[in-house]
Amino acid sequence: MEQETHLELVAVTKRYGSTVAVKAVDHKFKSGSYTCLLGPSGCGKSSTLRMIAGHESVTEGSIVLAGRDVANLPPAKRGTAMMFQNYALFPHLSVRENVAFSLKMKGVDTAVRHKSADDMLELVHLSELADRMPDQLSGGQQQRVALARALITRPQVLLLDEPLSALDPFLRIRMRAELRKLQKELGISFVHVTHGQDEALALADEIVVMNNAVIEQAGPARDVFNAPKTEFVAKFMGGHNVIALPQGKVAVRSDVVAPTGPGAGRIEATVDTVEYQGTHVSILTKSIGDTEITALVSDAAFFANPHNPGDTIGLTWDEKHQHALIA
Ligand code: ADP
Ligand code: MG
Repeated sequence: MEQETHLELVAVTKRYGSTVAVKAVDHKFKSGSYTCLLGPSGCGKSSTLRMIAGHESVTEGSIVLAGRDVANLPPAKRGTAMMFQNYALFPHLSVRENVAFSLKMKGVDTAVRHKSADDMLELVHLSELADRMPDQLSGGQQQRVALARALITRPQVLLLDEPLSALDPFLRIRMRAELRKLQKELGISFVHVTHGQDEALALADEIVVMNNAVIEQAGPARDVFNAPKTEFVAKFMGGHNVIALPQGKVAVRSDVVAPTGPGAGRIEATVDTVEYQGTHVSILTKSIGDTEITALVSDAAFFANPHNPGDTIGLTWDEKHQHALIA
């Protein structure tokens, strides 16, 4: 069943002086889904997110949320909420008061807004810390306060800009699992900006890959990973080889490339380096024209038939795993 569109970008452009940060981008975000905007630094992710939030003006185009163009509405009137990279908590306010802040701005009385804040703190498992000050919290706890503070406005879309980048690797993985769970519980749309492909794969129902101010490819996470359409997407998502064949360039996942005897594969190559990775062994080879091709084989398969740097081998793969790239 086709999920309804809730948020739509129509020919959205952002210019800062002569810099085109976002170039006529069109995209339909599915309702109630977790979308990651993924791409290298400077490709226009934050600008896109800030235009959706209303923290940045739209140079051209429209942003349609639940059927109305919100491009000229102030942030608080859009039905979106934003969680920032550095959390931006007020240092002189307690956790409860931080979370209740936007309700205070709306003139909601103390008892009501504190009750609302406590409900949100329960949602993010921080009830016991309601009276603490931000500097008495760990990074992970501050992040949850920022999340509760964004969610208290009951947004239809939560916008998150690199929300995990300030956390250490262990916490990052734990928090991303919590974000994913929370999104499913709340059933609202999350749009999450990241430059990490592993983060996007772990979180997203849909991945939108951006490069140079445009969307290179968008689709379900598995489709984007398995069938990259451009060389950029294949390389950025990782785990793929880009191989020039007579009919054009193709992407082939490293883990479907198998070494075989010389002359027996699709391509002949020389083993360059062999890297043991625990469950797998990564064999980096060089083929005609110095093309690098990596074969990622299970440790059992490798040690049953080991290869050494300098060996000439064949490389083979099933044609169905080969995806033609748009030049
Ligand atoms: P990302 O979040 O993907 O790293 P940004 O949207 O922040 O990318 O930036 C896209 C481009 O716009 C970059 O070239 C950046 O230098 C430029 N840019 C971003 N914000 C501003 C600004 N406030 N003024 C001028 N240029 C900006
Ligand atoms: Mg950014």
